[in-house]
Amino acid sequence: MRNSRLKLSIALGLVILYMLSALLWWAFALVKHQEAAYEKNLQILSAKKSWADEYIYHFLYSKTVNSAESDTFILGNDTFYFQKTLLKQEIFDRFPEFDVLFVTKGQRLVKQISLPIREDIQRDLYRTLLNKKKAWIYEGITLGIITILIGVAMFVYLDKVIRLNTQQNNFLLAVTHELKTPIAASKLSLQTLQKSKSPELVDKMISMGLANIRRLSSMVEQILMATRFESKVLDPNFEETELDSLVESTLESMDLGEDKFSRLNIKLGLTKPLLLDKSLISIVIKNLVNNAFKYSESDSSIQVKTVESENNVKLIIVDNGIGIPESEKKKVFEKFFRVGEEKTRKQPGSGLGLYLVKKITEIHKGKIVLSDNKPSGCIFTITLSKNIKVDEVV
Ligand code: ADP
Repeated sequence: MRNSRLKLSIALGLVILYMLSALLWWAFALVKHQEAAYEKNLQILSAKKSWADEYIYHFLYSKTVNSAESDTFILGNDTFYFQKTLLKQEIFDRFPEFDVLFVTKGQRLVKQISLPIREDIQRDLYRTLLNKKKAWIYEGITLGIITILIGVAMFVYLDKVIRLNTQQNNFLLAVTHELKTPIAASKLSLQTLQKSKSPELVDKMISMGLANIRRLSSMVEQILMATRFESKVLDPNFEETELDSLVESTLESMDLGEDKFSRLNIKLGLTKPLLLDKSLISIVIKNLVNNAFKYSESDSSIQVKTVESENNVKLIIVDNGIGIPESEKKKVFEKFFRVGEEKTRKQPGSGLGLYLVKKITEIHKGKIVLSDNKPSGCIFTITLSKNIKVDEVV
């Protein structure tokens, strides 16, 4: 599991790194492209300027008229005569990108014509360059952030899939083991029965067979119940129930070894009945008490309490067993989750018990809290409201 997680992190990390470098390169190339386009526009304007100079020369050459209103122009070594305003209009019509400036010397003598690029055009070109550069950089950053977010989302999703897969594999391992063991043991009991007719052995074999069948049927019941929760076909039957009596009868029916009642410390203190689904709450009690026995030393005591407050009722199961590490406290309520490695685990189980406990508590609009007992062990506290109505619950 840890190995798959590491591999997944490395693979996704590399993909994100590759995509981020590609994005960086892409944004950089676009910025460079924009700068080149700006330079090209300036070059086009300067080529146009040479063409305009030439046009003016040819225009003056063909239109030169020396009259009283004419101004004098000296272009290179040639002198031309033409009206300044008419010439300005002509240049402006043909070459609107340029300002027309006359550099004069003396009163009437117009010596040179200067054609600087119009300031607003220059400003527009430069602004376009800056805006586009900014746009590419922002786009690059946005896409980078999106890439990282997609990467993180993929990691979370795939991590969940890997975890579920590992848990399901664990579940298969556990179920196979759990189903095989009682079947094999029952088979052995029956084979022994077939061979031996000794009355003590017959009794022993029958009780062993029955215990194995109980184990099998509880496993099958849990799998079926989980499937019903998954496919949402559970139809709870709420009725007024004395929780204390239900706790007592459930504990009575449980097969927890001969010293069951000497280990159990039961304190029941409820006064009024509650709206509950009896068979579902009975599963909760069974699973929690069974776990308390499974994960504790064989001589340690287990407390089962019911406590009443103004609005709530609490069902509390306390053991002095191995406890559950802080990091696993939330996970133990997930489907198929079991603490530790499947191969090294001593206790049988499917990882469905606490998942069902949580689901059933939620159906009753209740809450389950897992805390540490001192010096060791777990405290499971289920809080149910006294005032729930059936239509609220269903
Ligand atoms: P399982 O069938 O494995 O007991 P559960 O869903 O009932 O499945 O419990 C999930 C896991 O939580 C168990 O495998 C066990 O590691 C841990 N666990 C549950 N109850 C206790 C407890 N009272 N003390 C210590 N560990 C517990």
